[in-house]
Amino acid sequence: MSGSRVLVLNSGSSSVKYQLLDMRDGGRLAVGLVERIGESGSRLKHSPADGESREWNGSVPDHDAALKAMAAELDRDGLGLGSPELAAIGHRVVHGGLRFTEPTVVDDAVLAEIERLIPVAPLHNPANLTGIRTAQALRPDLPQVAVFDTAFHTTMPESAARYAIDVETADAHRVRRYGFHGTSHAYVSRETARLLGRAPEDVNVIVLHLGNGASASAVRGGRCVDTSMGLTPLEGLVMGTRSGDTDPAVIFHLMRVGGMSADEIDTLLNKRSGLIGLCGDNDMREIRRRVDAGDERAGLAFDIYIHRLKKYIGAYYAVLGRVDAVAFTAGVGENSAPVREAAVAGLEGLGLVVDGGLNAVRGDGARLISPADARVAVAVVPTDEEMEIAAQTYALVNDSGNQNLT
Ligand code: ADP
Repeated sequence: MSGSRVLVLNSGSSSVKYQLLDMRDGGRLAVGLVERIGESGSRLKHSPADGESREWNGSVPDHDAALKAMAAELDRDGLGLGSPELAAIGHRVVHGGLRFTEPTVVDDAVLAEIERLIPVAPLHNPANLTGIRTAQALRPDLPQVAVFDTAFHTTMPESAARYAIDVETADAHRVRRYGFHGTSHAYVSRETARLLGRAPEDVNVIVLHLGNGASASAVRGGRCVDTSMGLTPLEGLVMGTRSGDTDPAVIFHLMRVGGMSADEIDTLLNKRSGLIGLCGDNDMREIRRRVDAGDERAGLAFDIYIHRLKKYIGAYYAVLGRVDAVAFTAGVGENSAPVREAAVAGLEGLGLVVDGGLNAVRGDGARLISPADARVAVAVVPTDEEMEIAAQTYALVNDSGNQNLT
């Protein structure tokens, strides 16, 4: 295999995000997004490393049209999909169930298994499959690699992965805790070890991935031992629009007493709950602006968000026994100093302290925000899921050797 470029695709139901990376130096050659696929007012934004960003609005009826539009933009920059420099395409796939514990070169059996998992990931896996099939049609000769959001969590022990419900019923329907955001938790836990100047095998980390979706994980010596998302991404922390943990009886109550259907409650808990349900906003910048202006609903939403976060820090501290670092990542974790400060406030007894000055400094790279003599490091570690997908994809196609891939 001669090429050193990897195209990373993150295909959602109505959007495709892409990045073209050069794995010789980790350089990003182009980054882009096609939005509102199959809807009115589709939009493409394409940013090559060596040039001006370009945007257009037009009709993008389906994923095939979206990837062709992406390919045309890459062609304009001399980075087309036909280039021999392209080594592989890496796809983010949300649900890999128990079977996919590693990145996997896609073949018909792999596609069939991703399809079989649709009942546990009805929103995500169909879109991921469409992305893979469309990319295959564009470059049938190229290895397509699936990198699973669940893979990093497959090391969880049964005690963390099982719900305490009847085992036969759970197994019949593949009900268990799978966890998501695994690519980010893997990358960030490794980068945290690097920031501490230690080997990942020697370090225990609590990773707090706080984006619009949010999850926490407990990572012991580089292996995930617990994570806050479960069968679906609904469990765990308070998120932008998801409730996180609730008593399951809330659902029966809303059905029996509130007269709501399962689909209506699904939408309520996934789309109209969390921060947006509590205060009408899901952007932490806006919530903080309102809190600072004395808005009580925003204040309560912030407090509920922080209370849940703190509970998970405490829980994972207990799960790990010894914690070397707590790492904040993703949109909120990387940017919101008030969230980081509030999440750790009062945890001095656990060795967790944030230095106000360091916390307030904005920066792009991984950095410590705890005092130099702190017992537990508190860090901001920017996530880079595309780089991790590209690195895993590239490593796999190189390792697999030419016999499988040419
Ligand atoms: P996702 O990938 O889950 O959509 P991101 O990791 O991009 O989410 O995070 C998006 C969220 O990050 C926004 O909804 C907003 O709440 C938060 N965010 C982004 N920038 C800032 C900022 N400067 N300060 C506080 N919060 C921010």
